[in-house]
Amino acid sequence: MSVIKKLDQVIANKIAAGEVIEKIANVVKELVENSIDALATQIDITLIESGLTSITVTDNGVGMDKTDALLAFERHATSKIKNINDLFRINSLGFRGEALPSIAAISRVELTTSKDSEAIKVVFEDGKFISKSQASLNQGTKIEVTRLFYTTPARFKYLKSPQYELAMIVNLIHKFALAYPKISFKLTNNQKIQFVSLGNNNIKDILASIYSADVARKLIEFSGESRDYSIFGFTTNPIINRSNNHYVNIFVNKRNITDTRIINAIRECYEQLIPKNRYPIAVLYIECDPSIIDVNIHPRKQEIKFSEYQKLLDLIKTTVEPLVSSSYIYQTPKEDDIEQIKLEFHEPIREYKENKHPVINQEKSTIKPKNVIPDMEYIGQYLGTYLIFQNETGLYLLDQHAAAERIRYERYLRQMERRHSETQELLLPLELALPKEKAILLEEHLSELSDFGIKGIITNNQILIKQVPSWFYKGHELEFAEEIVETLISEKTLKKADIIDDLAKLLSCKHSLKANHYITKAEAANLVNDLRKCKRPYTCPHGRPIIVSITIGQIEHWFNRVL
Ligand code: ADP
Ligand code: MG
Repeated sequence: MSVIKKLDQVIANKIAAGEVIEKIANVVKELVENSIDALATQIDITLIESGLTSITVTDNGVGMDKTDALLAFERHATSKIKNINDLFRINSLGFRGEALPSIAAISRVELTTSKDSEAIKVVFEDGKFISKSQASLNQGTKIEVTRLFYTTPARFKYLKSPQYELAMIVNLIHKFALAYPKISFKLTNNQKIQFVSLGNNNIKDILASIYSADVARKLIEFSGESRDYSIFGFTTNPIINRSNNHYVNIFVNKRNITDTRIINAIRECYEQLIPKNRYPIAVLYIECDPSIIDVNIHPRKQEIKFSEYQKLLDLIKTTVEPLVSSSYIYQTPKEDDIEQIKLEFHEPIREYKENKHPVINQEKSTIKPKNVIPDMEYIGQYLGTYLIFQNETGLYLLDQHAAAERIRYERYLRQMERRHSETQELLLPLELALPKEKAILLEEHLSELSDFGIKGIITNNQILIKQVPSWFYKGHELEFAEEIVETLISEKTLKKADIIDDLAKLLSCKHSLKANHYITKAEAANLVNDLRKCKRPYTCPHGRPIIVSITIGQIEHWFNRVL
């Protein structure tokens, strides 16, 4: 007896919904994409309880006639592609004809739409047609989704907190606003406005409302072209950088995608200019003929496949890199930092005063008595980066940046650990700019933040910090607070010891002597002495070597002098 049965439409749609609709933001995304495809210039998204109670998307697009309003709920019914060739030249955001039937399969959808001054309202619930009636509406479409996931308890269970779901939606609308600066978006939740864009085609304005006015002031604009691709966008001056790559927004023919190699291509333009694991805030628009990309490789179309991918990466690098490096302003350490350097590098070495080529001897140190770095004589500096030393056993090359980093890292760590449980009230609160979606996520972590010694109030787009731990380094309070806030938001486990360690690394890297910097003999000598006081003088905090040696035996071997 045959056992295979063709699934009916309702079940098929529920299964399809499982692929497209995992969270509330997916519904919002599909509805907004439809409004964009309908050429709307004004799109309002109204949520109740982060969309769990209701999601309403209203647009002033082309609308649908009575027949289309019903057809739209049928699976694989679309106005966007007509034949197989269209699939290779996709210009619209939707094309699979799956979204509306999928959403309707797991919720109640009331669609009111108006075209050529005729309006109709149709209602579907749990994938079944309920009713159609005459309605009144201005040109455009209004879709209200309620009872989402009511009949799919498994999905319901996977939803995170309302705050988290809202944050996802705010983030989504930010991306739409960046992709479509000519469309005006308005997002409200429980009657509270979460985001508005004017639709006046001003990308800097949108970046200012997402990230802060300060970020918008420090943007570098770029544009470039190759045979297949043209790129355009904004990226921040190296002074502004963030601890994760969420701030790099990529759009291909206006579609927001995630692509770590493209993010890394942008990140590489900042090599040496910003600490490791930090990223700029950027928006990159890639335009190309739709036939050279494939948007049909991901169920939610978040990843796409490029032809001539390497050429695209090269275009990004050659366009952005020169602008970023020429914008870089070397930041001299702050006054109190200079004081610290003097303290650490203070003792002039006796030999230096007496000889032209001083022998840098091991200093007497009360903390670490082991002879870790040998006595050696300073010869000079190579490439403004490596210090050359010699002694009777061979030659030594010392990476001056790595050494300075190690010295500072251990010093910062000591100072921070010493004061780990004290806090201090700030006379003037610090203003930490936070994109709305992050502010929403942070609300859930306020008590952890206060356990950490940070007290603040979240206001629109920022947190006003009134108290910080005493181990926060003077002049770096904002940076430290940002690092902790980002860690909390990303739901990583937050151990005080780890965070102190990370921050010490960050600071040391930022303020240490950079490569390509000429230093005097006295400074070289002081560097070695300070290095000797370190617990681990052989590697920088990121694990790169500080000192390498070439033995006399090796050198004699190269010149065939070995007997
Ligand atoms: P797709 O977007 O892949 O075509 P959907 O299921 O999302 O599939 O939508 C089906 C069809 O319904 C669309 O092709 C479009 O013709 C119509 N439609 C959906 N939403 C709107 C809207 N807001 N305005 C006008 N037409 C719409
Ligand atoms: Mg669609």
